[in-house]
Amino acid sequence: MQESGKIKELTVKSALHFHENEMPCNWDVNVYRGCTHGCRYCFAQYSHEYLGTGSFFTEIYAKANVAAVLDRELSRAKWRHARINLSGVTDAYQPAEAEKKIMPDIWKVLIRHRNPVVITTKSSLILRDIDLIAELAAVTSVYVGASITILAEKLRNIMEPGAAPAEERFKVLERMREAGCVTNVMLTPVIPLINDDLQNLEGIYCRAKKARVSGLSAWPLNLKGSTKQKFFRFLDARFPELLPRYREIYKGSEVSPEYWDSIRTLKSELQRRYGIPLIQIPSTQGREDGVQLSLF
Ligand code: SF4
Repeated sequence: MQESGKIKELTVKSALHFHENEMPCNWDVNVYRGCTHGCRYCFAQYSHEYLGTGSFFTEIYAKANVAAVLDRELSRAKWRHARINLSGVTDAYQPAEAEKKIMPDIWKVLIRHRNPVVITTKSSLILRDIDLIAELAAVTSVYVGASITILAEKLRNIMEPGAAPAEERFKVLERMREAGCVTNVMLTPVIPLINDDLQNLEGIYCRAKKARVSGLSAWPLNLKGSTKQKFFRFLDARFPELLPRYREIYKGSEVSPEYWDSIRTLKSELQRRYGIPLIQIPSTQGREDGVQLSLF
């Protein structure tokens, strides 16, 4: 492991990782570990704990050789061009990418192999690579999503301090659509009593409609593992008045069915009013690619 500024560099033996979850697809490539976007609700925080090192939000590892390794893996005869998710754990366009510039080489590899892809980001840095992304979108399907949760900039800055304002993310989607990508809004997570008011939710549907996105889906905040403790600590510091209600809504790691029923009704009404379908990302080759596990 090498250090470059505050970002540590790793060399990896494999780039592609298979998992059973088909949403949005079974294969992931993550070019970083850790993410300085610092979203208070980030579920990936606890994925860092096994490293036994610093915070997910401050200790960033860049996989320096990941594009070369991916190129090797996609060259294998048995690879069937399954769709790859470039944002399974961390945001590939977090601030570290401005310095490390790993993603242009990833796009070049994907273009060479004409491999379909899905990526979700909260950063406008992805626009730096729009020409490469357009080149890939000309030969295969490219799904670009933006996770957009809060329109009010002051609150957005409290909840996602390192990420771009919502309006910048909508502009990313507009440019990516023009570049030939399929674009989606992930209104996720819906955070009880913080971003679940009608004004915020409807504002996001309305702006998404204007951006002509193909799909929009919303899922509730999940507080798996140590994320619950961390999020409750954050609430205690910033929104202590919400804690009693949170203890009712979160008996475990998921929202109560009563709470989600009320949001689901609102979502259905907004979806009907704005005519935006739920996100659909067709699988490519699907589970048969599981046989390739042995290759990697
Ligand atoms: S952008 Fe995603 S990975 Fe990064 S901190 Fe936010 S939720 Fe976590």
